[in-house]
Amino acid sequence: MFSVNYHSEPDMSSTKYIFVTGGVTSSLGKGIISSSIAKLLVARGFTVTIQKLDPYINIDPGTLNPYEHGECYVTEDGAETDLDLGHYERFSSVPTTQANNVTTGVVYQSVINKERKGEFLGETVQVIPHITDEIKKRIRLLASKQHYDFVITEIGGTVGDIESLPFIESVRQLRWELGKDSVVVHLTLVPYLAAAGELKSKPTQHSVKTMLEQGVQPDIIVCRTEKHLPESLRNKIALFCNVNPSSVIECIDAESIYEVPVLMRQENLDIEILRKTEMPTDGIPDLRDWEKFLYTLKNPTCSFSIGLVGKYVELKDAYKSINESIIHAGVSNGCKVNVISLHSEFIDENNVAEKLAGLNGILVAPGFGERGIEGKITAINYARTHNLPFFGICLGMQCAVIEFARNVLGMKGAHSTEFNKKTPYPVIDMMEEQKKIMGLGGTMRLGAYPCKISKSSKLFKIYKTVNISERHRHRYEFNNVYLDKYIKAGFLPVGINEKDDLVEIMELMGHPWFIGVQFHPEYKSTVAKPHPLFVAFIKAAREYNPV
Ligand code: GLN
Repeated sequence: MFSVNYHSEPDMSSTKYIFVTGGVTSSLGKGIISSSIAKLLVARGFTVTIQKLDPYINIDPGTLNPYEHGECYVTEDGAETDLDLGHYERFSSVPTTQANNVTTGVVYQSVINKERKGEFLGETVQVIPHITDEIKKRIRLLASKQHYDFVITEIGGTVGDIESLPFIESVRQLRWELGKDSVVVHLTLVPYLAAAGELKSKPTQHSVKTMLEQGVQPDIIVCRTEKHLPESLRNKIALFCNVNPSSVIECIDAESIYEVPVLMRQENLDIEILRKTEMPTDGIPDLRDWEKFLYTLKNPTCSFSIGLVGKYVELKDAYKSINESIIHAGVSNGCKVNVISLHSEFIDENNVAEKLAGLNGILVAPGFGERGIEGKITAINYARTHNLPFFGICLGMQCAVIEFARNVLGMKGAHSTEFNKKTPYPVIDMMEEQKKIMGLGGTMRLGAYPCKISKSSKLFKIYKTVNISERHRHRYEFNNVYLDKYIKAGFLPVGINEKDDLVEIMELMGHPWFIGVQFHPEYKSTVAKPHPLFVAFIKAAREYNPV
């Protein structure tokens, strides 16, 4: 029943597996370290993919409240995933898929389904080997479909947590099966105790001991720290944790997450990984473009503020991809863009001018549920009537459509049927097709869909192409019954999904920059390729001249 593959000779053509674990506390930045490793390996010409194993029981983060888990990131193939996958794509430019995010829920669901179908032939189904086999299968799945030189697997949670035990146990088994084709990178915290004036290695020693109790010896220890690690401390950590001193890597706090690949390069993290997996270490990663990006990020030639209007603005991670896309677009424009968070629940007609004063543009965020809707509509009204650049994403676009109906087309009480089923003017509504999917248990229009852009639009000048594809996550749509009225009044559907006859992009004529999109461009912006819509919005904001 237990299948064991004994150590095999390392084979240069085989896939190498990098496991990234975390100790001491959560939020140390395993996602950023994993992404930085991916960036360095890709910059050396290797093929890489990254996956995240999440120890929670939800099937995916799609149903999780942003207060619980930050943004839900959507892949090309429509998977609702952990926001770390966004970092993976932004750093490495390698697209991820459904298979790149596995939760405990998915693992158990598939084992239980197999049990119900009788696939275990009457065996007692247990954590070991059935759950761990399923985890191992999913770790190896990525490289079974296409060749990768490296598969990086980030294990969510902190070692010592009850819920991550099966994942660590799977790593233990895979280490045995893979031998030199695997390496474990353990990220820990080396705190600085001001009273003692010292950096402390004990929490790191303890977290490595916890891993050893679970049968896993880390090969490389990445130490998150606010002060430089002295040589003596590196030696001490090496001695207590059974690693070479060169395998103790300092990860000092950085101003920007985008500095981390360069810092990890300076610390030779890539070389250590290549050595441990017996891969060639010659040559250097080509980070020229990345360094150019960093230089502009640190030396902007202009600076201004835009408002991010949403209902989760107090949460750092709720609009992660939007914030990162703004950084990419800022660098593209040579500017530092300060993002001012505006809580839509607290915007009303009396304070909107004051709240938006000094801003060069507003971005109205995606979202679900009625809370804060009227504030968004009020902010959009101000932007429309004051020539202030406006960018509406998903719900942000829907609110612009509602605002226009109420205040330009004379449709008093116009709304989305998401918020008011009895509105006299359902300008945003659920389409028949979507209702059918809902009936089948599906919920949303998810993932990449094609969109055709009209050549005479500002959008065409932005994208420089007619056929685009963007990622979606929504249930409601522009209601085509009202299309003619919008066209006559100059709020034009300039991007259409032809197959399903859906409005994807609205652009207001006679306004310097007033664009709403039904999709989520923020999921596709990367350091190497900032999203053209964000770049154009930030350019318009830079050029904004209040009258
Ligand atoms: N709640 C809206 C819908 O379901 C918008 C979703 C979003 O902004 N992602 O259509």
